[in-house]
Amino acid sequence: MSTKTLIENYTKFKSEYAQEHSDFLQDLVENGQHPKTLFITCSDSRVAPNFITQTQPGDLFIARNIGNFVPPFDPNSEASATPAAIEYAVSALNVENIIVCGHTECGACKSLHLDIPEDNIEMTNVIKWLKFADSVKDKALACVGKKDPKLLYSTTEKLNIIEQIENLLTYPAIQKRIEEGTIFVQGWYYHLENGDLEYYDHIKNEFLPIEKSLENPKTHT
Ligand SMILES: [Zn+2]
Repeated sequence: MSTKTLIENYTKFKSEYAQEHSDFLQDLVENGQHPKTLFITCSDSRVAPNFITQTQPGDLFIARNIGNFVPPFDPNSEASATPAAIEYAVSALNVENIIVCGHTECGACKSLHLDIPEDNIEMTNVIKWLKFADSVKDKALACVGKKDPKLLYSTTEKLNIIEQIENLLTYPAIQKRIEEGTIFVQGWYYHLENGDLEYYDHIKNEFLPIEKSLENPKTHT
């Protein structure tokens, strides 16, 4: 989609939605944002958080990166956007839910299994970033091997979601709130091909249709 089209679409948004919801938008400024959910997902353009959850401005605090990775808490690490977004959402905005949303056909998860030349200067940060999921790659290989690439990639995508949830628990602020029962963490697996959504059931250790999570109120607010 060209920038010209984006601007034309924006013009429509401004004259229609912004006009019709002017009080709502003004209220978000006067009373500030109070999102209940931190939504961590992949930068992939085919994953559209507000679109798939039918949410409005102010509903989701979104942190996106390649592969929906959560770097483990490390007080000595260099500044990084995702940990900063997590800390702000949890400790400043007091979100009640954190969703880690991975997806099918994830290029980041696939590329963990491809040999990207380490000396490719144009991919310097991508190569460094993908190292956050080295352990996911190893777990997926141990789990299903590499005979069936499709199975290997989908297993990697799912194990990646589980791994990133575990990484979230390394953040003291999150650990504390989970113990208090004031924050809930959920893993979602979104199917690009048909819009299906599954969630990770940590007791059954499997991904189930999202509707089933509504039967278990302990998984969300
Ligand atoms: Zn992805």
